[in-house]
Amino acid sequence: MEATETLIENYGILASMSWNSNKWAGDPSKEDLGRSKYTYVQNKLHTHESLNFGHEIYPSEEDGYYIGYTPMLRKPPAFDKSSSVKIIFLSSSDYKNSNRKLIIGFYGNPEFGQEFPRLSKHRLFRKYDGGNIKALPEDIIYFDKPLVISNESVAKEGLLPEGKLISQRGFNYLNSDNVYTILLQAQSLNQQNHKLNAYVKNYPIRVAETKEQATSEDYYNAISDADADTLKGILELEKKMAKQTPEVRQRIASFIERGAISSKVKKLTGYKCLICDSLKENPYSFKKPNGDFYIETHHVEQVSTLNKGVLGINNLITVCANHHRQLHYGDSLLVERTATSFKFKIDGKTIKIDAIKIP
Ligand SMILES: [Zn+2]
Ligand SMILES: [Zn+2]
Repeated sequence: MEATETLIENYGILASMSWNSNKWAGDPSKEDLGRSKYTYVQNKLHTHESLNFGHEIYPSEEDGYYIGYTPMLRKPPAFDKSSSVKIIFLSSSDYKNSNRKLIIGFYGNPEFGQEFPRLSKHRLFRKYDGGNIKALPEDIIYFDKPLVISNESVAKEGLLPEGKLISQRGFNYLNSDNVYTILLQAQSLNQQNHKLNAYVKNYPIRVAETKEQATSEDYYNAISDADADTLKGILELEKKMAKQTPEVRQRIASFIERGAISSKVKKLTGYKCLICDSLKENPYSFKKPNGDFYIETHHVEQVSTLNKGVLGINNLITVCANHHRQLHYGDSLLVERTATSFKFKIDGKTIKIDAIKIP
């Protein structure tokens, strides 16, 4: 997995629950209740999370979901922060082993943010009548061998976002790389868990799909009522871009490179590649059916910098397809920029290009 390209923030949650000596598939022991660190449990001698990993024993609800609980989500997390969460890991402190912290399993593709009553019929459901997370049983995975974590290990192995400690009173958000690292470690401890193996195998694809979907949605939202055909429209886009991810900004840039302003720019430079021109090479590509030479526009200063005017006309140059690729992927560097010109170093040669002016 290309870690940095597909990184999604707030992709997972790590939340704790009270200890259960019956693998969270039945009543906790008296000692579990007595030694719980949660005040609620001590007062009521009850844990809503008792059946969290009983998804293969107890019935699901009518909609197919199985309900679980974590005290850490009793207060629902902010929607704008948590709407990208695709997995909730559940951890617990093992009081029998000097309170070491363990990740016990997870709910994949969960729903959360409200209370869910258990409406299915089971004797134990009278006592454990609801929860605040739910997932399909096939996406709920219990680790027979739980993963031991500590503040040292999460920092060293990248199980939490950089600089974060395991939350004591709430929960932690995890990015998609943290989630993957936890899954891989759990997998190496539970190699016979076929459900987990399948989940881990599909994980990078799912992350890429989620990222792709989010990127196109953000992109279409940004351009939906914008136009790249007027300078005013481009100015609007520039404002909207501040909130976008680098991937979305890049797409907005290509949207503009294809728009009417870009056609104007092409006309102004006479459909020439300005780099070929300055190298005294043939600046024209092939002719299109309409008789114009084929040419592309390029934003000199990277759109992702969000510098003022970055989408504007005097940040655009026209280049042939070959030089366009080289500017993006080859050995090229913008070494100087003035109000009226750009200086590039391309393959060791210095090239000066005049900025485009609207006549
Ligand atoms: Zn060229
Ligand atoms: Zn470009």
